Amino acid sequence: MPDDSTATAPAASEGASAAAATALERADALAACTEDPARLTRRFATPALAQAGDLVLGWMRDAGMTAGRDAIGNVAGRWEPPGLPAGAPTLMFGSHLDTVRDAGRYDGMLGVLVALAVVESMRERSGPPFALEVLGFADEEGVRYGTAYLGSSVVAGTFDRSALDRRDADGIAMADALAAFGGDPAALETARRDPADLLGYVEVHIEQGPVLEAEDLPVGVVTGIAGQTRAEVVFTGAAAHAGTVPMALRRDALAGAAEWIGAVEARGRAVDGLVATVGEATVAPGASNVIPGRVALSLDVRHFDDALRDASVADLRARAEEVAGARGLHAAWTEVQATGAVTCSPGLARALETAVEDTGVRVVRLPSGAGHDAAVMARICDVAMLFVRCAGGVSHNPAEAVTAADVAVAIDVVRGLVDTLARAR
Ligand SMILES: [Zn+2]
Repeated sequence: MPDDSTATAPAASEGASAAAATALERADALAACTEDPARLTRRFATPALAQAGDLVLGWMRDAGMTAGRDAIGNVAGRWEPPGLPAGAPTLMFGSHLDTVRDAGRYDGMLGVLVALAVVESMRERSGPPFALEVLGFADEEGVRYGTAYLGSSVVAGTFDRSALDRRDADGIAMADALAAFGGDPAALETARRDPADLLGYVEVHIEQGPVLEAEDLPVGVVTGIAGQTRAEVVFTGAAAHAGTVPMALRRDALAGAAEWIGAVEARGRAVDGLVATVGEATVAPGASNVIPGRVALSLDVRHFDDALRDASVADLRARAEEVAGARGLHAAWTEVQATGAVTCSPGLARALETAVEDTGVRVVRLPSGAGHDAAVMARICDVAMLFVRCAGGVSHNPAEAVTAADVAVAIDVVRGLVDTLARAR
């Protein structure tokens, strides 16, 4: 391999550098759309999400796109090159506009902004023989209702309507929140896309890990996305006075939950490639002088092998019952979500690799341990993902950072991908 092919600081095109600066300014503007002035939190169907979506819709329309919201509240913009024949397929780009609590400003938004920059750059050139769409999904993180990928699952037609009855921490049902947001719970089918119309779905996302930084590369091509199971596990015992009930007569839900959490960690450590996490615990009644009567825990299990993940989840479920049985507790298990592992489409990933090579960047392929909308979109079309280096691999944190130079490379790569796909048709 010639020396220059390993150069790690390729110059992005002039146009991409200017577009990257604009994309970062837009990320700042979106970060100001928050439920909490002190930090960035933007959950599904909140006024903050509406405000962010309005900004994106404005940029889309300025770029000459036809833009609006669908029934679940996703923002969608479509651009057809002049003279595009009827029945031409659509290449979709997207990511999400919702955030976790106290979030960074690039997780999700970067994918929408890079795609928007690419469409803007297309207007000065002859267009590809397909339409371009940019989707800003209304919910990927699942913070408000504990179920992720709402936006993309409606587009892919995999949405489970029973989720509409779920209630947030304030007791507001999803169906009511969606209606108040301007969506239409009764018309979700209208947002579903026909696979026959789609050339593919491409998502640009910050890496959320340390590999690209370690390799000193601005971008990398994703090979696949780990499968994920989320469950809610509730241990119920008996709340009682901490001073009067002897240890032997207690049914302490938190002590049982703690034992089980230890088993979750042990399982994660024992299986190569498995990650298992209890990230939330709600203890009731929650007083220092009361034996806990009820503990609700979240469980998140991920692996690239679905069978291994399923086996681990089944074992952890059995273990919860075992722990509860030995302690006179009751364990209730609710599976919140299960998403199979996804392999990015070889053809689309190869086109993306060609586009990376064309910018002078060494191609590195890497798997994604984090879930992404692309995993859901894979149900209806080919998918590919491009990761962008982020400082320290940090995400879900206000310290999340990317550089304009790396974003410019991502813009050049995606523009190159469109050209590569156009040539192939
Ligand atoms: Zn994300």
